[in-house]
This record gives sequence, structure tokens and C-alpha cells, in this order.
Amino acid sequence: MAALVELRDVVKHFPVTRTLGEIARGAHPAVHALDGVTFDVGDGDAVAIVGESGCGKTTLGRLMLKLVEPTGGAITFAGAPMAGLAGERLRDFRRQVQLVFQNPFDALNPRFTIYRAVVEPLINAGIDRAEHADRVASAFRRVHLADFDRYFDRYPHQLSGGQLQRVVMARALVLGPRFLVADEPVSMLDVSVRAGILALLREVRETMGLTAVYISHDLALVRYLCERTLVMYLGRIVEDAPTEEIVRRPRHPYTQALVAAVPVPDPDQSRQPLPIKGNVPDAREPPSGCSFRDRCPHAMARCAAETPALRAVAGGHHVACHLE
Ligand code: SF4
Repeated sequence: MAALVELRDVVKHFPVTRTLGEIARGAHPAVHALDGVTFDVGDGDAVAIVGESGCGKTTLGRLMLKLVEPTGGAITFAGAPMAGLAGERLRDFRRQVQLVFQNPFDALNPRFTIYRAVVEPLINAGIDRAEHADRVASAFRRVHLADFDRYFDRYPHQLSGGQLQRVVMARALVLGPRFLVADEPVSMLDVSVRAGILALLREVRETMGLTAVYISHDLALVRYLCERTLVMYLGRIVEDAPTEEIVRRPRHPYTQALVAAVPVPDPDQSRQPLPIKGNVPDAREPPSGCSFRDRCPHAMARCAAETPALRAVAGGHHVACHLE
């Protein structure tokens, strides 16, 4: 499958306010959100990015949508470098990519009716007004909001969390996008409505032939949605493999800890939690060598001296660890 999105050695550092000592030393500290990320997303694929809070996965999603610019490296979309997109080509890109927000309560303007919220992308994209009503109705049908016209005059606070997330999805789908990034799409929702939203995400991706990236800390969720999973730790990809391989045969010590720590329903598995000490290190001063070494039960001298490269260990399975 040809790549729709390609990232090559992408770096994103966020400058932070300097202390007096740092000013005196001439230091320019920065949060290392991403450090040398390289991967492709195939056209029509569903890819998950997983990791703990602060690992860089949300920044990565925003870079792929050109909501923030990289500090270094290159990103292309459908073969075109994103850095050079401007004017009509940038507007065309914006029509093809959409973000499904983590919190539907924050995603919609509380002063806009539901109809206004969903029609707004059509207005911004300059779509002929005569097409608006049909396009909005079609988007509402896709997200299975029955009797959708009775929602049109309501405001976000008058809908439940599950209904709102369907409205957010209708808004994301109304322009017929090609690429969707969903950032923790169900984490803020009541457990009782999560399964319905996940089934809907899978259905719209399959029926519309969308390429999708799901950002999540939840391996059980990505197992349901994605064929391939990338595991991130402190701004780097540490494992990239088919999702079933990640869940059943994780090879990086961090992935092993993640899999052991989360309840992935599987009667065949009886793995006990691995010891994983401490917290994610300060992204202002990432450790030398392997950034997981302070927490890794297998760390050795080489791990402090040399950053492990992401290497192929089997077909479609890549791991960044000196044990491999
Ligand atoms: S490179 Fe070393 S510290 Fe990093 S995960 Fe592998 S064994 Fe652990």
C-alpha cells in the first residue's frame, strides 16, 4: 500500500522559559517532544500510536495535521512536502484531513447550534451553500444520529457525551476527508457509550476508506481499531509492529510493561505485570542513550552510551532496543 503520510527524522522541541542560571550559562532549554521520528502511514491503513502521557503522541498527531510545525525533519502528505503547503494547496490539504478531539465538550463552540457546528467546515471551505443541507444530513446519517434534524437547533450543553462525540464526528466527516487523526476519542466518555463510538469509528473508516491514526494509552482500544501499532516513549518510537504482535509478543521492555499493565481481554494470556519503576523522565533533559534506561529491568552500560536504532526484527516488526 502506497504511503499517504510519510515522516522522516521528525523533531519537535518546544522552547521553555529560561531560569536566571540558564540565561547566565547561555542555555536554551526546550521540551524534547519528538526526537527523530520516522514512519509511514499507508493509504487506507489504521495505525495506533500508544504510550504514556507526555510521550509525544499528541504532538505527533498535530504535526501530521499541520497544526504545529516540526523543528526538524520532513513530513509529506500524498507525496507533497507539508512544509511547502500554502494558499489553495493548504486549503485543499485542510479539507482532506480532520481531527476528532478527545473531549467533545471542548470541541464545539457552546454558542453555536449543532447545525451551525457541523455546517461550519463547509462554509470555511467555500462549499456552495445549496449543498450544505444535504451534506450535513449525510454526515449525521453516517454517525447514526437518528432523527437528526431534531438536534439541529440544540446547543452542545443539551446533548449527552455520546451524542456530542457523534456530532464531533459528523463535523469531521462532513467534508469527506481522506485522513483522520483521533486523539483519545473515547477517554472522556462514559464507559456505557464507549463501545458504540468505537464501533462507529471502525465503521466510518471502513465504509469511507479513510486512513486513520488513533492516539491512545489504551491497548485494548487500539487492538479493536488498528492493524498496526507504534509504541512511543519520550519522543521516540520504541516498537512498531502489527497490533496482534504488539499485544501477544511485545519485544521492547517498555511495551512488555504496557501490555502487562493494561487489561487486554484474552483468555490465553496469563502474563504477570513486569516491574517498571519510576516515572517518565523530564523531557527537558532526556537521558543519554536509551531514554527508557532508568526504568528498564534489563539496562546495561551500553544503554547509557548508545541510543538504540529502530531495527527490523521480523516481517513488519521493528524494535529500538540493544537486546534485539
Ligand atoms: S536499550 Fe537497554 S535500557 Fe533500553 S530498553 Fe533495551 S535493554 Fe532496556
